[in-house]
Amino acid sequence: LFGYVGIEAVLEQMRRKTMKAGFEFNIMVVGQSGLGKSTLVNTLFKSKVSRKSCTLNYEEKISKTVQLQSVSHVIEEKGVKMKLTVVDTPGFGDQINNDNCWEPIVNYVNEQYERYLKGYTSTGSGGSQTLASHCCVYFLPATGHWLRPIDVEFMKRLGKIVSIVPVIAKADTLTMEERLEFKQRIRQDLKANGIRVYPQKEYDEDPEDRILNDKIRENIPFAVVGTDKEHQVNGNKVLGRKTKWGIIEVENMAHCEFANLRDLLIRSHLQDLKEVTHNIHYETFRVRRLNESNL
Ligand code: GDP
Ligand code: MG
Repeated sequence: LFGYVGIEAVLEQMRRKTMKAGFEFNIMVVGQSGLGKSTLVNTLFKSKVSRKSCTLNYEEKISKTVQLQSVSHVIEEKGVKMKLTVVDTPGFGDQINNDNCWEPIVNYVNEQYERYLKGYTSTGSGGSQTLASHCCVYFLPATGHWLRPIDVEFMKRLGKIVSIVPVIAKADTLTMEERLEFKQRIRQDLKANGIRVYPQKEYDEDPEDRILNDKIRENIPFAVVGTDKEHQVNGNKVLGRKTKWGIIEVENMAHCEFANLRDLLIRSHLQDLKEVTHNIHYETFRVRRLNESNL
């Protein structure tokens, strides 16, 4: 092959480097107690993203009422290692007076950016230098009504510093019509309140992205169901919730949208979430800090 340099071999080099180094992905879950956050985190780890894994834990109090619990699993598939860390925020929105309840979480995210800026390693989680959270999964109660003031206030503020993926919790408590209607109302409400959730139109990189992301935008928030139990269905083990009327299979797209959420976070948009976090949210923070220190 005359004039052939072999540039495409660089792809193989990149693949091998990534495989050796592995990569990290951090998710934060926020929502009031009892909405199924812990259960959904377990579902995520038990579902097909992870079969082989080990757990690392840490806890930290970030305010009087909000606590952080972090679970990491190292997931290995076909020789590729991923460290998936989920930070849970028990206590959020559980007070009688929830004024400023977003504050500890906003502060936490900013502190993580600050650490990164100063070159510190991430909190106790193994020493590698990584950003706080690549996305925040925000749990909405399946009320069938509208967004509540606490949801609006939280997402408005957090949406400026982290990618927010809202979900409808315990979607098995809504009928299919209620679910569709609720989803539509929430999308209207998000728009009316100027809340920016992931994936944002402004960050679509090309027409192909736009088509893919438009489909997601038309379908959010995902109506999810969580479980930590497995059941036998037609001779197969499935993750599900057993009710008097049958088994709700959480990974079955006909039953709920858990798989859509998992696929968005892990299979289709992981790298984009990391890039948006780094290039937009962290960069905004960094520029603001630079301006402050130049005053
Ligand atoms: P957290 O306080 O947000 O962490 O909520 P938990 O995960 O502890 O769940 C609270 C209760 O809701 C538990 O009894 C769960 O079994 C139940 N639960 C969790 N996910 C679901 C769900 O998707 N549907 C229903 N119906 N119940 C759920
Ligand atoms: Mg919990």
